[in-house]
Amino acid sequence: MNFASDNVVGASRPVLEALLAANDGAEPAYGADSFTKRAEEMLARVFERECSAFLVATGTGANALALAAATPPWGAVFCHAEAHVLDDECGAPEMFSGGAKIVGIPGVGGKFDPAGLEEALERYPRGVVKAVQPALVSISQVTEAGTLYTLAEIRAIADVAKRHGLKTHLDGARFANALDGLGCTAAEMTWKAGVDIVSFGATKNGGLACEAVVIFDKALAEDFPYRRKRSGHTVSKGRLLGAQMVGYLENDHWLDNARHANGAARTLSRGLAAVAGVRLPWPTQANEVFAVLPALVAKAVTGAGYRFAPWSSGSLPDGFSIGPDEVFARFVTSFATRADDVEGLLAAARQG
Ligand SMILES: *Cc1c(COP(=O)(O)O)cnc(C)c1O
Repeated sequence: MNFASDNVVGASRPVLEALLAANDGAEPAYGADSFTKRAEEMLARVFERECSAFLVATGTGANALALAAATPPWGAVFCHAEAHVLDDECGAPEMFSGGAKIVGIPGVGGKFDPAGLEEALERYPRGVVKAVQPALVSISQVTEAGTLYTLAEIRAIADVAKRHGLKTHLDGARFANALDGLGCTAAEMTWKAGVDIVSFGATKNGGLACEAVVIFDKALAEDFPYRRKRSGHTVSKGRLLGAQMVGYLENDHWLDNARHANGAARTLSRGLAAVAGVRLPWPTQANEVFAVLPALVAKAVTGAGYRFAPWSSGSLPDGFSIGPDEVFARFVTSFATRADDVEGLLAAARQG
């Protein structure tokens, strides 16, 4: 079984069935279809307010377009030093924004704090022609370390952003996992906490290839249709995205999937922490478990056929280091993870 990523599994049944059902008959093209309309309505209900929702096929596309919508080419986007938008998108946000600078802020466990943001903002003074101009703050929720910002922490960061005239973006590639982890509503985690624009992920949690950029600030949404078309993310048979999102959201399927994945991660986390020599640098709060394994344990796990992603991180807690005979591993669970897979992995780890 493969715990390397939540992208190693296919789409969930209800999403595939929604796609099949949407396949018959003629529908207007380029996102004017009834499925896309329905998806937009459902997203407005999820967020409990009027909003603009734009479907795209990848998370990188969602992030790059969201960032581009909220910063001028001479702008600065502030995020964690290991953020996906900074480290894992091949410069897409820089390209689609026309050259905006992405500024990383350090912080333990994948999170930065308001003080770190204030400090970074000081380096880019407003009105100084030599400096890129602060435009946007981007937080990842779930973070790249599998941790969560509390609602108060999101609000505190968004407050600093607002005070300095910046917008706030939330990279929700694992949005549902974050909601389940916090036990809050989508509204509470976003606009009620000061977030202006969201990358709402579906792919990792049951979609095939579908994400939404959800925008609460009307001005940011105005040019979005043109940005999306220019980027090649305006899918001609738009129903293929619309139907996925409908199947994903219908009957709380997305929340059920996330609850399942998070539950599997909790079991895995507890089990691994009980294995001799295994250390966890931070708590498991969603569907990712980060653990330092003695090399022998890692070998036993891989030898039994279980895959994980070897990891490295600059945001380990002070004094927490990885020894020469240890392996830092990321395990990711998904809607498709079976209890047997978790138990099998733990049994292998205990043999190590
Ligand atoms: C997976 C992920 C994305 C989206 O990545 P794609 O591979 O382009 O779909 C964005 N942000 C974070 C934090 C992610 O983990």
